[in-house]
Amino acid sequence: MVVSMMRNSQVIINQQAIFDNVANSRQQLDSKSDLFVVVKANGYGHGAVQVANVAKKAGATGFCVALIDEAMELREAGILEPILVLGISDPQWAPVAAENNISLTISSPEWVKQAQSILSVARCDSKLKIHVALDTGMGRIGFQTPEELQSALKVINESAGQIEFEGIFTHFATADEPDDAYFKQQYDKFNAFMDVVESRPKYVHVANSATSLWHKICGGNMIRLGIAAYGLNPSQRAITELPYNLEPALSLESSLIHVKEVKAGTHIGYGATYEAKQDEWIGTVPIGYADGIARKLQGFSVLVNGHRCEIVGRVCMDQIMIRLDRQYNYGTKVVIIGKSGDEQNTAEDLAEYIGTINYEVICGLQPRLKRVYV
Ligand SMILES: *Cc1c(COP(=O)(O)O)cnc(C)c1O
Repeated sequence: MVVSMMRNSQVIINQQAIFDNVANSRQQLDSKSDLFVVVKANGYGHGAVQVANVAKKAGATGFCVALIDEAMELREAGILEPILVLGISDPQWAPVAAENNISLTISSPEWVKQAQSILSVARCDSKLKIHVALDTGMGRIGFQTPEELQSALKVINESAGQIEFEGIFTHFATADEPDDAYFKQQYDKFNAFMDVVESRPKYVHVANSATSLWHKICGGNMIRLGIAAYGLNPSQRAITELPYNLEPALSLESSLIHVKEVKAGTHIGYGATYEAKQDEWIGTVPIGYADGIARKLQGFSVLVNGHRCEIVGRVCMDQIMIRLDRQYNYGTKVVIIGKSGDEQNTAEDLAEYIGTINYEVICGLQPRLKRVYV
């Protein structure tokens, strides 16, 4: 994988924004509650290790990832806080998780039995910490009924001390929507599950960003803060009241690599889909769909010197062409996400234009774009 250091296109991460978002979320919690920042998918494109280090200073007490590999990246970078893998991992990796103090999520009693025998064969000295996922209405992973949960807890209790029941959690499907009927249904199911848990584990957690912002933490003692740590609204624009200001941490900038004046009638880009109506200044910007600039962004405006400049012609793999309001010098900054003069493009603006959500826009920014930390 090549990260381009010699091209002037970059993702800029404002570390102070991440610090402020995490610190503000921390302030909403009581002092006994834990705050795990979710740094899966390379910290939503912001850089997992860098985000984790800033979040730690702002009061994060642990981290969530999606994959054991992502947890290992944090361990290899010297991060010692608890780490929870939110997805289901293959039990063959249970010894790696145990030895590196990485907590895994479980969804079935068979998984526990398999992990147990693998841990015995590996003669693993360390205990494997597990968090039990409960499916209260997300329909993705987790136990479906309190009876299933009970039988799994029995298997864990009989695991000869190899497996530690460290946490229990669920995930809400609609916490980011104004209508809370389905949320309440899930919360009731969660309570029915908790009724069969005889001894509460160290961590009980239900809250993603949306739940922590708009529903409190529902009796849990830990939150899993993802998108809000990066300063983005999990509801997009559906809910605008926030308990604290969310400060977007990411901007995306490039610069004009080529500027020319074209005559009226000139066509631009693959398929010759754009035709200049009059004599126009056209700039070429070295960024494209291989960097995460969706082809559907044709027609969207980027910002040059505080002016909105439309992407004309199709988005290419590595380049886009934009219509400038006047001649600009080679090297002039082009803002794709972020502020320029009085204008601003947000991740939501891009998302709305191409029919997706801010999460996908930021996670889609490819590794070949260099990350610059300010
Ligand atoms: C990704 C994820 C989160 C974080 O969600 P945000 O909406 O980004 O806060 C929390 N919990 C689980 C189980 C997840 O998969």
